[in-house]
Amino acid sequence: PQNPARRVCLPEFDGQELLECIRALVRLEGRWVPRDPQSSLYIRPTFIGTEPTLGVAPPGRALLFVLLCPVGPYFSGGFGPIRLLADPQHVRAWPGGAGHCKLGGNYGPCLELQEAARARGCQQVLWLHGPERLLTEVGTMNLFVFWERPDGGQELVTPPLDGLILPGVTRQSLLELARKWGEFEVREAPLAMGSVLGALKGGRLREMFGAGTACVVCPVGEILYQEQLLSVPTMENGAKVTTRFLRELSDIQYGRVPSPWAQPV
Ligand SMILES: *Cc1c(COP(=O)(O)O)cnc(C)c1O
Repeated sequence: PQNPARRVCLPEFDGQELLECIRALVRLEGRWVPRDPQSSLYIRPTFIGTEPTLGVAPPGRALLFVLLCPVGPYFSGGFGPIRLLADPQHVRAWPGGAGHCKLGGNYGPCLELQEAARARGCQQVLWLHGPERLLTEVGTMNLFVFWERPDGGQELVTPPLDGLILPGVTRQSLLELARKWGEFEVREAPLAMGSVLGALKGGRLREMFGAGTACVVCPVGEILYQEQLLSVPTMENGAKVTTRFLRELSDIQYGRVPSPWAQPV
């Protein structure tokens, strides 16, 4: 969690101590924790430079604070698939950049294409990269594909942490869950648009979804790519892997099953 701070020359801090502070804060604000089993208290640590100067230099003063906000169910209108706009003219991150860091500066430049996507009836942007049109992320979510290989084996694939990808905690959790299930191969590997188109054409693509804290998982139903609306059969295939991830991670988050990932407050 300290990498983003280092990337923008904010001072080091003790992660364990921050966790203690968050525990104390949540205890203090306990009455704001929603009781409804689909709502939650969103916890967002934030770190900003506060040096009162116009110069471009590492800040001599900084403020680390934690925002809390009760949030309702993400899928209030039901667990529905989203449509993505894939426009190779725009990139979210690049080699040597800061796409792997959770920085405010990564979000502003994404808004214009996000709004263009909305205007074209898409809920999110599918961020592509490079001449191979690698699929990198879905809006502010990590991307997963569950498909059959040409040789018939089933596998779950998500792009590797190559500097272009935000190393989301949801992504890591889903990888660990799937490896524990041991029912299909789990790979961190580049996903090129050509392979995805081939899998769609061959009827081998079973499910595609985004993964992030807010929704846990979000099924993908369509991709608007080069003026073509591609149909992704996540729901038609029962979204089995997608919904299993949603169920198992929610069970852990709501304390319905014990897990070493749970943090006692
Ligand atoms: C926050 C974020 C994610 C998801 O990270 P989580 O830790 O799972 O919430 C993925 N991609 C981007 C670009 C993000 O900003």
